[in-house]
Amino acid sequence: MNSPILYVVIPCYNEEDVLPETAKRLYIKLKEMIKSGVCAENSRILFVDDGSKDKTWQLIEKYHAESEIFSGIKLAHNRGHQNALLCGLMTAKNYCDCAVSMDADLQDDINVLDGFMEKYKEGCDVVYGVRSSRKTDTFFKRTTAQGFYKVMQKLGVDTVYNHADCRLMSKRALDAFADYKEVNLFLRGMVTHMGFKNDVVYFERAERFAGESKYPLKKMLNFAWDGITSFSTKPLRFITSLGGALTVVGVVLLILLLILSLIGSIADWWMPSMNIIMYAMSFVLGGMTILSGIVILCIGVVGEYVGKNYFETKARPRYAVDVFLNR
Ligand code: UDP
Ligand code: MG
Repeated sequence: MNSPILYVVIPCYNEEDVLPETAKRLYIKLKEMIKSGVCAENSRILFVDDGSKDKTWQLIEKYHAESEIFSGIKLAHNRGHQNALLCGLMTAKNYCDCAVSMDADLQDDINVLDGFMEKYKEGCDVVYGVRSSRKTDTFFKRTTAQGFYKVMQKLGVDTVYNHADCRLMSKRALDAFADYKEVNLFLRGMVTHMGFKNDVVYFERAERFAGESKYPLKKMLNFAWDGITSFSTKPLRFITSLGGALTVVGVVLLILLLILSLIGSIADWWMPSMNIIMYAMSFVLGGMTILSGIVILCIGVVGEYVGKNYFETKARPRYAVDVFLNR
């Protein structure tokens, strides 16, 4: 069998601090792999500049001019990690036998490439990179991330525990993936949804080599919510159950009050020494406020799904390529 053509796809957003080191390490790694015949001569490192505002694109242009091993895509503007990654993978699939996606910040150990290629040669179409530990993550990131994976599992979404977006996909898998036309992207969920023969390679997740995380808490929460709502309608089912349960509680309460008022004075039973009107008022008011809160929350959740539909029916392009450098 000929050595496969490998494309390593790296989405980059304002990564000028870390890119020189990433490019250097990946260059050495890929050259080694080419030399030892693990992958073909025309394998590439494909940087996708997700509309960076710093010198990221100028660096990519420079690397491309220096060596043909570097390719680059410049997106017309910032579309977010998932869209940038999709753009890279969908472009790579026209040139490669398999593509690996990785973050630009060297948090994913690049030596995982060896394991990926081994599994690929054994016939896997998808190989997931899984973090064997999260020692380098902050306590907060670790607990929220792991909590998220658990919630996803509870909601019946098939995800690989502790796998982010570091993975290998064969050309066959990428071709099949191209048929997923949704605009709300949660790639790690979509890939597991697709199936194909797959396996896992473990690696130690390092700290970000340089620069700052491009995923602040707000973006992270949005992403988690997108993941849940793109893959599960269980929140809607939960609302239905909640409505049912509240109705039952209401009916039981009403019957109880009716019986009590038939037996005797409610006031005597309820708080004989206090002003019954005051109590009834505060009880009703409190209950009403809580219930209105729950109702508005439920409308909000339904609205989230309607909003998602709005974007799905529009089916706007998920990214626009400004420049593509490949030779
Ligand atoms: N990224 C991107 N577009 C964005 C935000 C992030 O392409 O709008 C890239 C970023 O350059 C990096 C990867 O997505 O290669 C993951 O981001 P980061 O490392 O900041 O996230 P974290 O590891 O902190 O979750
Ligand atoms: Mg990172």
